[in-house]
This record gives sequence, C-alpha cells and structure tokens, in this order.
Amino acid sequence: MKCPSCNHEFKLKVRQYLREPRGRHNCPACGVRFKLKHSFSYIALVITAEAILAAVPAFVVLHFTQHFLYYVITLIICSVIFVVPLDFLLDDRWRKSAKI
Ligand SMILES: [Zn+2]
Repeated sequence: MKCPSCNHEFKLKVRQYLREPRGRHNCPACGVRFKLKHSFSYIALVITAEAILAAVPAFVVLHFTQHFLYYVITLIICSVIFVVPLDFLLDDRWRKSAKI
C-alpha cells in the first residue's frame, strides 16, 4: 500500500483492514488519511470471486437441503473464508490509494 501524499509504502495489517472496512487508512509515516479507490476491475473481481467461491457452494447446499437458512449460512461462511482474505490481499497489493 502506498501513501498518495508522501509515497511511503507499507504493508496493510489485518487489524488495520478489519478496523477500516471502507478502505480509509492513515499513513504511518506522515499521518495523512487516504482512501483506496474502487476501480471497475476491483469490483468485478470481488463480485466474480463472491459468485464462484461463495454463491455456488451455497446454491449446492440449497439444492440438497431445500432450506434457505442453510443457503444464507453457507454464503456467509464461504464469504468469510474465501472472499474476505482475497479482499485483504487486493487492498494491500492491488488497489490504488487516493487523497480524501
Ligand atoms: Zn504518507
């Protein structure tokens, strides 16, 4: 992750990521607050990952159990296991930062 103000590069920590779900962070070098951009490719990748890694297993569970509650539970569990870590990696390594 790179600060848009001073160009300081630093690694995003899990604690930082969980505290700022909207992708707004403070630079540890200069203290400036910045945000991560929502590019089309980022949004498309997250939606695709959610569809493949969470929605498909949830539909399989719905097909076999016929209980919508199990579908929702599977969707949430698969999202937490697969999509949230992917989003963390994208935030740390791929998304560009911008001044607020
Ligand atoms: Zn900075």
